Amino acid sequence: MRESKNFLQTIVEKDLQSGKNKKIITRFPPEPNGFPHIGHAKSIFINFGIARDYNGHCNLRMDDTNPTKEDTKYVEALKDAVEWLGYEWEGNVRFTSDYFSQIYAYAIELIKMGKAYVDSLDEETMREYRGTVTQAGKRSQYANRSIEENLDLFERMKKGEFQEGEHVLRAKIDMSAANMKMRDPLMYRIRNVAHFRTGDEWHIYPMYDFAHCLSDYIEGVSHSICTLEFENNRAIYDWVLDTLALQPPRPYQHEFARLNINYTVMSKRKLLELVENKNVNGWDDPRMPTIAGYRRRGYTPEAIIAFCDQVGIAKANSMVDVSQLEFCIRDNLNPKVPRVMCVLNPLKVTIENYEGNELLDASYYPEDVPKEGSRKLPFSREIYIEREDFEEHPPKAYFRLTPEQPVRLKHGYIIACKEIIKDAAGQVIEIKAEYFPESKSGADTSGIKVKSAIHWVSAAEAKVVEVRLYDRLFSSEIPEGVEDLNPDSLKVIHNALMEPAVVEEKQNERFQFERQGYFYADPLDYTEKNPVYNKIVGLKDSWSKKTTKVVTKPKEKKVQIDGEVTPMTKEQETLFENYTKNLGLNSEVANTLARDAELSSFYEKALSVLNSPINLANIVSNEVAREMKQSQEKTLKFTPKQIAELVKMVDDALISNKIAKQVFEEIVKSGKNPKQIVEEKGLVQISDPTQILPIVDEVIVQNPENVKKFQAGNKKLLGFFVGQVLKATNGKANPKIVNELVNKKLNNLEDLA
Ligand code: ATP
Ligand code: MG
Repeated sequence: MRESKNFLQTIVEKDLQSGKNKKIITRFPPEPNGFPHIGHAKSIFINFGIARDYNGHCNLRMDDTNPTKEDTKYVEALKDAVEWLGYEWEGNVRFTSDYFSQIYAYAIELIKMGKAYVDSLDEETMREYRGTVTQAGKRSQYANRSIEENLDLFERMKKGEFQEGEHVLRAKIDMSAANMKMRDPLMYRIRNVAHFRTGDEWHIYPMYDFAHCLSDYIEGVSHSICTLEFENNRAIYDWVLDTLALQPPRPYQHEFARLNINYTVMSKRKLLELVENKNVNGWDDPRMPTIAGYRRRGYTPEAIIAFCDQVGIAKANSMVDVSQLEFCIRDNLNPKVPRVMCVLNPLKVTIENYEGNELLDASYYPEDVPKEGSRKLPFSREIYIEREDFEEHPPKAYFRLTPEQPVRLKHGYIIACKEIIKDAAGQVIEIKAEYFPESKSGADTSGIKVKSAIHWVSAAEAKVVEVRLYDRLFSSEIPEGVEDLNPDSLKVIHNALMEPAVVEEKQNERFQFERQGYFYADPLDYTEKNPVYNKIVGLKDSWSKKTTKVVTKPKEKKVQIDGEVTPMTKEQETLFENYTKNLGLNSEVANTLARDAELSSFYEKALSVLNSPINLANIVSNEVAREMKQSQEKTLKFTPKQIAELVKMVDDALISNKIAKQVFEEIVKSGKNPKQIVEEKGLVQISDPTQILPIVDEVIVQNPENVKKFQAGNKKLLGFFVGQVLKATNGKANPKIVNELVNKKLNNLEDLA
């Protein structure tokens, strides 16, 4: 059980102690209209978890009240997901459709009590009559129908005598209720379509608000746990059960905050769109945030459960950083998976002074992993290394093979480059090398110093494998849908080379490919002839520098890539100390700067022009560092002074951070001064409220529906309005000021109304 109790556990314990409930019965009630996603995993974790923690049970119930969208294939996917996550539902899978007759009987009872009526208003009039948050609604003239007439109409609705939309059944509650949900909510509507389980038996289907509470009651559920959007529906839940005066005990609804993850869409509807548009290869595409997708990619159920546990159960919505999920899978796999070698982008190396071949002893696990096991690694004269592990003209701090710098072959010998062979186009196609017989790993008496160890495979024994590299499906932090897809989310490598032991002995396992990440043999496409491996996750968070906002991210242990992390020199250490202690840089940024003399000198020059250590460090360690690495000619197009000028504009709130990045790209291209670029392109940040206010007004006028929702209490929509205003200004408006203005404006509207 978890260390500290969440609010749901507190409620459950209280209810057990007071004797309100003898047994805890929960349910997980998905609608079978799509594959379950990671948000459902959280709901599964909570519902099944609470039942397990308190010796109760949890039902799996398909909420199949909308026949147009539901399908048995989704039922199967939901069952698979629950089982794979390690839970068992009580008895058979249940279906709301199993209770259609009972629910219908309850509706008749309400009609007989005068508490429900058949309404025949058209949709628009019905909406109009509902009123607004500030104005009471008006009851339909049909509410005066006699009980007999209601019963007759309702029965004929059921039989299919009417068109869809002609009539509905409504509860008779209160058309002036402050809670809009209570203004005579719909209980049944006509749907003249076949249901995947009940066929043509029904022409009416109960609404969620009517069916859900009754299904819970029928199943003897004690705690009906749902997400916060249903907070206002609780009143209907209670009204139905209380009005029918059902034999106790009755269930009670409790709400928790739904899971939101950045860079992820979490709505079956939007996911279905991706599947239908063929933006992905089906629901179980390893890039999908579906349970089936994670499973196929190689995630483990333990990692997903650990993630759900870590993010916790709260009463307020928040956004979780996707890197937290990635952390959980790394954390889960690190102590248990074998390390093997696979070359993704091969470059041939011929070791000219080596004859014959041998088998090297190679442990599957590094020293800090308490697991044992090893394989024989063939070594011979012809090997392949990663193309990126050789540089003819290495940039600063390049620790791998160069014409001057030897390198260790992991588990093997040290080699040095003797000759570079190129093709007609000047591409390096082969390295002629020599090896040092005394340098064998574990018995090295050569005295040769190297800065890193690289992975490799022996040419004759290596197996050709397919490797699928996945990256995030969306490139925007809060993606809307298709328009925010990351075009580089899948990269297929057909001719990767793998050491033989992996393919021969261990097919369906997870591995760490040394220095590349964690991989999983694709459960569907893997064959003896064409082994296919999915990348589960990289060794470290390659996105952490690309995002600025990090929410509740766990501290990650530094990944020590064998041989890659060399100790700092005295000078570097002094710099590092100074950067972290005196200038307040975080250790990652300080580390990047301190280890690179060129970079730190650039940084300090910029710092001598502008005293803004943190903002300068961020741009120097990210954008400037990237440019330094990429620029082939040794001179950069920009100076420390220009970068200082750019950062000053951000500090002075003249431009936003986002615009600063754009300006930087322009500086790199043209070498122009940042001020000039900002002026020429009209990028100056708009901070003047008199300029922003008209845009705020415009956005408010254009989105009446969302204004209504905001006024009805959906305060999350503040972000929507701010976003729209920022969009309308091409990101030039000062977000802080927009926030203030939107807030004021929306709240004043409320006062006026
Ligand atoms: P979607 O919009 O993706 O279809 P939904 O809420 O309509 O989601 P259901 O199938 O009705 O999906 O949900 C089944 C259960 O899972 C519900 O109790 C719902 O509250 C819960 N659930 C759905 N999404 C999330 C989420 N993101 N976080 C936590 N629980 C969720
Ligand atoms: Mg839904």
